[in-house]
Amino acid sequence: MPHYPLKKRHLPVNTPLVDRLPPELRVQRRRLRACHECDWVSALPPLKSGEKASCPRCSHVLVKRNRFPAQRSMALALASLIALLIAVSFPFISFNVGGVGNRIELSQTATTLIAFHQPIVAIAVIMTIIVLPAVYLVGVIWLQYGLLRGKHMSFSRDIARSLAHLTPWMMADVFIIGALVSLIKIAGMAHIELGISFWSFCMFAVLLLKTSQSLDADWMWFSLEGEPLAPEGTKTGTTGASQGVTGCPTCGLVNRLSPQGQNRCTRCHEKLHQRLPHSLQRTWALLFAATIMYIPANVYPIMTTTSLGHTTPSTIIGGVVQLLQMGSWPIAAVIFIASVIVPVGKLVALAWLCLVIKRSNELNAQSRTKLYRLTEFIGRWSMVDVFVVAILVALIRAGSLMSITPGPAALAFGAVVVFTMLAAITFDPRLIWDAPPTCSTRRETATKEPVDG
Ligand SMILES: [Zn+2]
Ligand SMILES: [Zn+2]
Repeated sequence: MPHYPLKKRHLPVNTPLVDRLPPELRVQRRRLRACHECDWVSALPPLKSGEKASCPRCSHVLVKRNRFPAQRSMALALASLIALLIAVSFPFISFNVGGVGNRIELSQTATTLIAFHQPIVAIAVIMTIIVLPAVYLVGVIWLQYGLLRGKHMSFSRDIARSLAHLTPWMMADVFIIGALVSLIKIAGMAHIELGISFWSFCMFAVLLLKTSQSLDADWMWFSLEGEPLAPEGTKTGTTGASQGVTGCPTCGLVNRLSPQGQNRCTRCHEKLHQRLPHSLQRTWALLFAATIMYIPANVYPIMTTTSLGHTTPSTIIGGVVQLLQMGSWPIAAVIFIASVIVPVGKLVALAWLCLVIKRSNELNAQSRTKLYRLTEFIGRWSMVDVFVVAILVALIRAGSLMSITPGPAALAFGAVVVFTMLAAITFDPRLIWDAPPTCSTRRETATKEPVDG
């Protein structure tokens, strides 16, 4: 048998750690993703613009490609920032009752609350509708400007990392619903006029939503920092935990975890954990705090109305009953869903998930993950009632003829919303999937499908 000497293969000494080829042309090891919701490692298929890749195990969207991502995000962010500037510079709403009236600007929905000794609620309102969205939009413009010029702007990595953390706390869309509810509540009692700022703020809310949807984190991080190699020997079709690797929650890169703790992503420097530390204990503590705060939120009045010298305090439930008596049952339904069904449902759903997590298996994990996603999505919509109070307190200022003051329940209810949102953030959905797998016929490549819309 002839003997063929093994050809000695030379690897280049300075093999670059960062590959500058477009993501679709790189070897498979570099296109691995560990799902952030179920920890399944899969390989991303080549994607064209307008397509997204979902996890084959839990259907979580891993990557979404947009056409002209930098230009698109830049245009949307600039447009929403302009809409916000117009919204804060012009009158928002004015009302008139019996010749006495009041006209407010957007920022007064927060500043009036300070005059009524509700500084924490005031800060929550101004942060969620103006400050955080403005910071987010400036961050997006800064990043995309650097990407379009092909030259990094300073702090790009820190800004890109912060954007993902800001998203759940921007509530311009919820504020619009709050404004509509407030208007319907007082429409029969006073003459209302909507200012330029109101329409501009509606535009801003839509554009802000579009901006946050237009950001493709996978593409953005590749453009900013390239794509470092996934750890050698990482296998698809199994969990990251079983191989000592984890997916970065911010940029998606698969990293090897060192047992000494204090792991950070090699690309974006985000803190990495196999599972969020003390996830269940923290979620339980926050759920407990939210339940405690839900008692004063319902017992105390959320606002007090003075009309012709007659003062009536109203609780959340009292407000719903009053709306029903007035015959505006659609608004009563909105308030009832946002203030009672959503927070209570969220508390019960998260508590149930914490309780049954040890008995999860692959058959029920999918539906439990869906329930978790729902609680995460609906949480912020409970802020509607807090925004209604902020708007009415600022607007209805006609002395003893008609005026509204905030009640102690506004702060308590705001705390319920924040605590339940934090509880959903600290809950690690990967724990639902941690039971031993029952079937092994799994696809190793993420499923590809067109992006909706
Ligand atoms: Zn998954
Ligand atoms: Zn990362």
